[in-house]
Amino acid sequence: MRRPAFKSCCPICGGRKVSGKTTFSVDLGFGVVIVRNVSATICDQCGEEWISPDVARKLEKLVEEARQKKLQVEVMAL
Ligand SMILES: [Zn+2]
Repeated sequence: MRRPAFKSCCPICGGRKVSGKTTFSVDLGFGVVIVRNVSATICDQCGEEWISPDVARKLEKLVEEARQKKLQVEVMAL
């Protein structure tokens, strides 16, 4: 069944999407990267988060930097 995409509505619970900040973390195997202050769209009911392609690109860059540094824990802010 195809439903029209309601951008302002959470596809999981139908809650309201609001913009806010989230903390993003990735397990690289040898260590963990934590990026704070990430702009995201967050559902005010179930807490599901979405990030824009632009923000995702920035995150990828940070994760790649952290991967090269090979630190066990890297905490950054976007
Ligand atoms: Zn939701």
